[in-house]
Amino acid sequence: MKDRQNPIKTGEKRSHIIKKQGLFAYALKTPCDIMVVHVILTKKGVHVMKIGVLTSGGDSPGMNAAVRAIVRSAEGYGYEVYGIRDGYRGLVADDMVVLDHKSVSGMLSRGGTFLGTSRLPEFKDEDVRKIAIENLRKRNISVLVTIGGDGTYRGAMELTRMGLKTIGLPGTIDNDIAGTDFTIGFHTAVETIVDAIDKLRDTSQSHRRCSIIETMGRKCGDLALFAGICGGAEFIITPEHQVDKDIIIDELKKHKAEGRRHAIIVVTEKQFDVHALAEEISEKSGFSSRATVLGYIQRGGSPSPEDRILASRMGSYAVDLISDGIFGVCVGVHDSRMIHMPFAHVIDQPRPKNDLYKLVKKVS
Ligand code: ADP
Repeated sequence: MKDRQNPIKTGEKRSHIIKKQGLFAYALKTPCDIMVVHVILTKKGVHVMKIGVLTSGGDSPGMNAAVRAIVRSAEGYGYEVYGIRDGYRGLVADDMVVLDHKSVSGMLSRGGTFLGTSRLPEFKDEDVRKIAIENLRKRNISVLVTIGGDGTYRGAMELTRMGLKTIGLPGTIDNDIAGTDFTIGFHTAVETIVDAIDKLRDTSQSHRRCSIIETMGRKCGDLALFAGICGGAEFIITPEHQVDKDIIIDELKKHKAEGRRHAIIVVTEKQFDVHALAEEISEKSGFSSRATVLGYIQRGGSPSPEDRILASRMGSYAVDLISDGIFGVCVGVHDSRMIHMPFAHVIDQPRPKNDLYKLVKKVS
C-alpha cells in the first residue's frame, strides 16, 4: 500500500531526479510499489508539494466535482491539497483545511460548493492580497487553484503578478468566459431552464398565453440561446441577438392571426424589464402574457453528466499543469480538448458569437 498521507517517508530509496527548477520528482521504492513523489526543495529542506484550492464568486454545479478531481489527481503525484473556505475570504482569514481522498467522497453529484464561496471586494487591495499570500507561505502552500468566473480570474491574475503560482478553472453557469467553449455548471443550468420552459409551455398552451422567461447570463446570451433552442422558443433575445420590442409585438399579432395558441420568449437578464414587456404584450398583441424570472434556481442542483465530466477533466488537467510546472494560466475546453492560456488572454476578452444563432432563425 502507498502511504498517501506521508509518501516521502515511505520506502526511502531515492532513485533519480526527474525534474529540475526547484520542483523535483523522486521515484521512491516502497515495499510493494514504485511511486513518483513531487517535492519542493527550499532553504528549509524538502517539502511535499502543497496545493490550495478555492471556489469563488457565483457558485455553479460541478464546482465540487472539480475540487474532487483536483484532490484525487493530486494524490497520484503525492501532492497535499488544502481546501480554502469561502473563496478569497478564507485565504485572507487563513481558513483552510486539508482535503484527502475521503473528504471529497460523495462530492461528484453534490450541487453548490462544499468549500463555500463569497465576494470580497477588498481583495482588489494589494495589502489584502499580501495577507493572503503570507497565509499560503506560512503553510508552504506553493500553488493556488481558483475555481470561479471572470472576477475570480482577475483576483488570480493579480496574485500571479505578485509572484504566486496560480491556475484558474472556469466555474460559472453563465458561460461568459473567453478561452473555453464551456464553463463548469453551464450545462446543468441549461437543463434547469429547459425544464422550466417545458412546464411553462404546458400552462401557456392551456391558457393561450405568451410566456416570457428571463435567464441569467450577464453579458453572455448562451443560457438563453441553448435553453431557448432546446425549449422550442419562438423568440430568443440576448445581448448578442437583440430584438426590438415592436417587432416582437408585430410577430405575436401574426401568430395570433394564424391561430397559434401560445408563444415562448426566452430573454437574457437586463435586456428588458420583463414584467413591463409582459404588460405591453398583453395590451397590444392579443396574447395575454406573463413573465417568469428564474433567478437563483438556475444556479442550484446536482451537476449534469456533462458538467461532472467537464469538471473532472479540468480538475485533473490543472494538476497535470502543476506537475509540468505551468502556472499563471486558466484551463478551458475547445473542440472537446483541454487547453490552457494566460489569464490576460481571457479576462475582458469577448467570446465569438455562437454559431447556434444561425439555427435560431431556421427552427424557431
Ligand atoms: P465571479 O468570479 O463569479 O465573476 P465576482 O466578479 O464577484 O464573481 O468575483 C469574485 C471575487 O474575485 C470578488 O469578490 C473579489 O474578491 C475577486 N476579484 C474580482 N475582481 C478583482 C480584481 N480586479 N482584483 C482582485 N480581486 C478581484
